[in-house]
Amino acid sequence: MTTITRFAPSPTGRLHVGNIRTALHNWMVAQKNGGKFMLRIDDTDPERSKEEYVEAIRADLAWLGLHPDGEERQSQRLAYYEAAFDRLVEAGRLYRCYETAQELDLKRKVLLGRGKPPIYDRAGLDLTDADHAAKEAEGIRPHWRFKLDHAEMIDWNDGVRGPQKFDPAMLSDPVVRREDGSWLYMLPSAVDDIEMGITDVLRGEDHVSNTAVQVQMFRALQAADDDDCTIASACPHFAHEALLVGKEGKLSKRLGSLGCDAFRERDIEPQAIIALLARLGTSQPVEPIADMQVLLDTFALESFSRAPAKFDDAELDRINTALVHQMEYEQVKHRLPEGMGEEAWHAVRPNLETVSGAHDYWKIVTGPIDLPDFSEDDRAYLKLAAETLAWGDNPWGDLTGALKQETGRNGKALFLPLRQALTGQHSGPDMGELLPVLGEDTARRRLERAAG
Ligand code: GLU
Repeated sequence: MTTITRFAPSPTGRLHVGNIRTALHNWMVAQKNGGKFMLRIDDTDPERSKEEYVEAIRADLAWLGLHPDGEERQSQRLAYYEAAFDRLVEAGRLYRCYETAQELDLKRKVLLGRGKPPIYDRAGLDLTDADHAAKEAEGIRPHWRFKLDHAEMIDWNDGVRGPQKFDPAMLSDPVVRREDGSWLYMLPSAVDDIEMGITDVLRGEDHVSNTAVQVQMFRALQAADDDDCTIASACPHFAHEALLVGKEGKLSKRLGSLGCDAFRERDIEPQAIIALLARLGTSQPVEPIADMQVLLDTFALESFSRAPAKFDDAELDRINTALVHQMEYEQVKHRLPEGMGEEAWHAVRPNLETVSGAHDYWKIVTGPIDLPDFSEDDRAYLKLAAETLAWGDNPWGDLTGALKQETGRNGKALFLPLRQALTGQHSGPDMGELLPVLGEDTARRRLERAAG
C-alpha cells in the first residue's frame, strides 16, 4: 500500500516553526516510503480563513523544498461532508442538541463542582420528536454531536507514544456541526483522511484526544459506508509528536509566530531549518546535514522522545553557519554580489554566518577601504612589502616568506599590517585565499597607499 501523508494547516495565519516541523515530518514519512505527501487546506471557517495565508503556506512549503504531491481544500469538499453526515445520521451516530454555550458552561461547572469530569450529559439524546418540533417551531436550530459508542474501547498503537487506550465514556460526544450548518474540524478531517486514502497521520500531541474521537469516527464512517470493511483498515496509522517549546522549556508565544519570513529575514538557509527540525526531539544528534538522503535514512518515529522538543535560535544559527561553510558556488552564485566569482566565494565562505554576509566581504575586495593610522615603522615595512610583492601561484606565502627573511618580523607584526593595508580590517578571511581575489594591481596599490 502506498504511504500517503498529509499536512493540514488552517489558513488563519502564517506557518510557524511548529507547523513547519509537522509538515516536514509528514513529507519525510512519505519520501522515505516512496509515498505521497498531500497538502490539505483546512478552510471550513470562512471568517478566519484568508486566501493570502493559503498562498503564503504554499510559498513557505516551496521555499523549504517540501513540495506536495497534491492539494485539497476543505471548502471545496463540502459535498463529501454532507454525504458522510447523512450516512451517520442514518446510522444513528449523530444527534441533535440545543444547549447554548452558557448552558454548557454551567453544566461543566456543576460537574466540576461535584468533583466529576466535565463530560457532556447527552441530554440531546433524550429529546423526543415533539421536543424537536417545539424547538423548530421556535425557530431554534440544532447543533449536532457525534455519539461515541461507549461499548467500544478506543485504542491504537501510536507511532511515537506506543499503545494508547481511551474509555469513550470518559469523553464528551463532540460537536461536529454548528447551528448554521458549518463544520467543526473533527468530522471533515476524518472524512478527508478516508477519502484521500491517508495511511499515516502524524501531528502534534495536542491532537491525541481528537484522535481518540476520530478513531470511532473512522470506524463509524467506514461501517456506514461499507459493510465488508475490517476495523484494521478503517484507521490510518497515527503518531503524535511531543510539542515544540522554547529553549526555556515552555510553550512560547514567540515560537507561535516564528515562521519562514523571520528565517528569511535572518538569511537562514531552508536546509538549516530542515536539518534542525528533522532531528530535534529525537535521539539522533542535530547536525549540519545538507544531504536530505542522510536525514531520510536516519529518520524514524521510534526515535522521537515523549519530552517536548526544545527549539533554540542559537542552535539554528550554528547549523546555518556550518551549512553555509559547505555550500558550493553554484548553489549561491545568484545571491552573491555582481562580479563575485568562485575563487572569492571560497575565500570568504569560512568566515560567513550567512550567505548575505558575502556582500560585506565583497566590499573589501572592491573598496574603497579605510586604513588605520600606521606607525612610521609599519609604513616603512609596507613600502618594502609593495616592492617585494611578486605574483606567482602563492603570492601571500611568497610575500610573507620574503618579508620575514628580510625584516625578521613574525607573527602579528609580520601579518597584521599587511592585512590592514590590504583589507582595512583587523581580521577576516584567510589572506592566502583573499590576496589572489584582490589581484596584483589592487594589492600593490593598497600597499603603496598604506605606506604613504
Ligand atoms: N487543521 C488542523 C490543525 O491545524 C489539522 C489537524 C490534523 O492534522 O488533523 O490543527
